[in-house]
Formats: sequence, C-alpha cells, structure tokens
Amino acid sequence: LANTKEELVENNETKDYKVSYTTARQFKDLPISAKSIQALEWGKFNKMTDIQRAAIPHALCGRDVLGAAKTGSGKTLAFIVPMLELLWRNNWTENDGVGAIILAPTRELAIQIFEVLRIAGKTHSFSAGLIIGGKDVAGEKKKIGTMNILIATPGRLLQHMDETDGFQCSNLQMLILDEADRILDMGFSKSLNAIISNLPKARQTLLFSATQTKSIKDLARLSLKDPEYISVYDKD
Ligand code: ADP
Ligand code: MG
Repeated sequence: LANTKEELVENNETKDYKVSYTTARQFKDLPISAKSIQALEWGKFNKMTDIQRAAIPHALCGRDVLGAAKTGSGKTLAFIVPMLELLWRNNWTENDGVGAIILAPTRELAIQIFEVLRIAGKTHSFSAGLIIGGKDVAGEKKKIGTMNILIATPGRLLQHMDETDGFQCSNLQMLILDEADRILDMGFSKSLNAIISNLPKARQTLLFSATQTKSIKDLARLSLKDPEYISVYDKD
C-alpha cells in the first residue's frame, strides 16, 4: 500500500483534482485490521471501487480528503473503512465517547449509511447511533453521549449540541461529511458551520460529494486541512 504520495501509481491530473490509485486492488491488500477485512469479506466486498482505491490510502494515512465521485461509485465504504480503522487503532472503547461523526443530508441517507456500517463494522465492538430526528428526542438525549459513532442529519445534531446537557464531542477523531453538495443544497450551510465550530480542530475530516462545485470547495476550505482533492468523476 502507498503510504506516501511517491508510492502512489497511475497518476492522472484533472484540473486541480487528482487521482492516484494505490497498487492495492482488494480490501484485503490494505494495511487494515483483520477484523475489518473479515467483515468486508463477510459483506462480499472484495475488490475496491475506484473512489475506494483512490481515497482510502490517503485517509488511512491521516490526511483530510475531498472525494468527488458519482452516485453509486462506493463512497460509503471509502469513508467507513478509514473511520473504523482510526477508532480501532486508537483502541476506542465505550468510555471514550463520540469518536466519529458522519453527517448526511437526509434521514434516509443516514439510515443507508447505518446499514453499511452494520456490515463493515460487524466484527468491531463500537457503538453507533442514528441522530436523525423524529419523535424520540429524549431517548436520543440519553444515549447520544455514550455512542462511539454518530450518523446524523445536521439540524438534529446541532439541536443536541445546543440542548442536550453533558453532550460534547471533545474527543472527536474524525468528521465525515457525506453528500456534502446536497447538505449545502438543502440549506444546511449555517448549521454545518455551527457544528464544525463546536468540534475539536485536531481531527481528521473526510468530505464526499457527487459533484465538484465552488460551494464544495468553499466548504472544503473551511472544514478541511490541506486536503487531498480526489476525483474519479471523469473515469467510468
Ligand atoms: P455512493 O455513495 O457513491 O453513491 P454507495 O456507497 O452507496 O455509493 O455504493 C453503491 C453500491 O455499490 C452499494 O450497493 C454498495 O453495496 C456497492 N459497493 C460499494 N463498494 C463496493 C465494493 N467494493 N464491491 C462491491 N460492491 C460495492
Ligand atoms: Mg453515498
């Protein structure tokens, strides 16, 4: 696996985005835990998709990533695998609180991500919760601080940050923004900025989007540190 940019192969440049694929073609060729490999195999995920091959090695090295690839290209595992590895490497336990937050534009998308996490995280023992609104705010309030991974819509997460006593994310290791273009399209820009201002700066951030727009780049400038711009948009 490529641990430095020099080791990455098959470079091709598109505008300011670039793609460098690791020589690893399968999840099992990545330097990830046996637990993760086992769960991915169980889920019948063997060969990586292009966005996974391009993004996961950088994310495993601790870099911020802006990943653009069309719908259906496998972006979910491109962030779930590095997220699980980061918590695993840090020996994350129930006592460590919220280690990772995944933000999605809609409840439906958050639920889909949760389903992928159930498969890819099957062999790990992290707790994960959906924070997506609905009736059970009280139930969410009780559990939110005890979860290791939160999959949330921006409005509801911000509501908890404002209202839920004792809920804090000072231990957060990774923030993931999925479908960031749709998060912005849906008018969550202000909520997003408020959430980000409540999070520790020393974190890793992965931002995924189906499109490459100016507003995504502006968001990247605000939320990412020296990111790898990865696009497999032009490649099918
Ligand atoms: P995106 O978020 O880019 O729209 P998804 O993460 O939802 O894409 O993945 C699209 C589909 O591809 C899902 O059905 C998922 O199970 C499948 N998929 C993702 N990665 C792989 C893989 N490495 N091997 C086989 N199927 C995959
Ligand atoms: Mg997706």
